[in-house]
Amino acid sequence: MSDALHIVCPHCHAVNRIPSGRLSDDPKCGKCHQKLFNAHPVALTTATFTGQINRNGIPVVVDFWAPWCGPCKAMAPAFEQAAAQLEPHVRLAKVDTEAEQSLGAQFGIRSIPTLMLFKDGREIARQPGAMGAGDIVNWVRSHT
Ligand SMILES: [Zn+2]
Repeated sequence: MSDALHIVCPHCHAVNRIPSGRLSDDPKCGKCHQKLFNAHPVALTTATFTGQINRNGIPVVVDFWAPWCGPCKAMAPAFEQAAAQLEPHVRLAKVDTEAEQSLGAQFGIRSIPTLMLFKDGREIARQPGAMGAGDIVNWVRSHT
């Protein structure tokens, strides 16, 4: 089992090659030396979105949210908990659709929160509406 996975750093967005067997060994980024997984969703911008979605060897779940959205804020702690449970096999990310309006438009996000699941740059599934941590984990696992 010498497979290597590409893991995009959530801090400096460099692409790391991690042997799949070492994924759970708390790997660090070869460029910025910070942890590749810290149980927190990574906030994405237009500049960093494509690299995280296209270059990651693991699925990426994106929470499209906005600061004025009450249900989005209510779901944020659940999304953090889901990150702790799903990492390092899934990357969790967030897009502030108010700050990054072009990303919301690009994916036709009509209601927030909306979760989207990507693998190898392609949309696998999307789910509008707030969910609890357990439901988020189950939804992701049912598609990966
Ligand atoms: Zn880094």
